[in-house]
Amino acid sequence: MGDYIVFDLEWNQGDAPAERNGKTLTFEIVEIGAVKLNEKRQKVGEFSRLIKPQIHQHMHYITGKLIHLSMDDLENGDTFQEVARDFLEWCGEDPKFCSWGPLDLTEFQRNLDFFGMPLLSDRPIAFYDVQKLFSIAYDDGKSRKALASAVDELGIKMDIPFHRALSDAIYTAEVFRGFNERIMQKVSFDTYVTPKTKKQEIRILFDTYEKYISREFDTKEDILENIEIMSTRCYHCHKNLRRKVKWFTPNGKHYYAVAYCEKHGFMKAKVRIKKAENGRLYVVKTCRFISPEDMEEMKAKQRKVKKRQNPG
Ligand SMILES: [Zn+2]
Repeated sequence: MGDYIVFDLEWNQGDAPAERNGKTLTFEIVEIGAVKLNEKRQKVGEFSRLIKPQIHQHMHYITGKLIHLSMDDLENGDTFQEVARDFLEWCGEDPKFCSWGPLDLTEFQRNLDFFGMPLLSDRPIAFYDVQKLFSIAYDDGKSRKALASAVDELGIKMDIPFHRALSDAIYTAEVFRGFNERIMQKVSFDTYVTPKTKKQEIRILFDTYEKYISREFDTKEDILENIEIMSTRCYHCHKNLRRKVKWFTPNGKHYYAVAYCEKHGFMKAKVRIKKAENGRLYVVKTCRFISPEDMEEMKAKQRKVKKRQNPG
């Protein structure tokens, strides 16, 4: 197994996305900072490089993150292609990426793609979203905190300034090192590249739910008519379950149903229809077991939606 690569990007944006060969780029990466941890999560290396912009020549007054760099600083950087190549070489075989929030891996791949470099994989990539894991470990699992607040809460020494790539990677690594095995199981998937074939699809079982990321489809109808996607199979005993609450959708994007397994109880299924980078559609489906009270709540929700959609 490869090392953990805890990384952070700084990026700049223009007033409009840049276009090249039919590809667009909004956020141009201008700095990569990273910390390498071995399998025991001990620090074994650092990476820090500035990138000379090729697209956006002015520092945007409002970027995705508050960045503490000037165009003059970046003049000393190397091209994205050079830095990305060195970074990936430094990462080594089979790196396990970790970042604060879900965006960095996506934007990194988008930059690779835009600058004509090979992508990291032909399918979704598992990674650790440290911001999400922090919430699962110490909060309600849903809220998202700024890195500085998380670091402060954990009492980690804050002796280097935030908002430079390496320092943010160092702090993120410190938070990441504190997670136990249960938290470490909660991997996320970057879907900059979505599955193209059935074989590339993702199916992963967590402690309280199952997640499935489908291959691509052309239309919503193709998805809604797909028996496998719209089936409700118990993820413990693999039996097809009868639905107690039939599929319904409050918004045409998210579909819900509840099925019943005699052995395991009420299973709620949620299908989210998402747009892939190439404009085609794919599905993220989650199934989890819920209490009889939650089942009643879903029933009520369905009734309400039905009433709204078919008034009178
Ligand atoms: Zn079952």
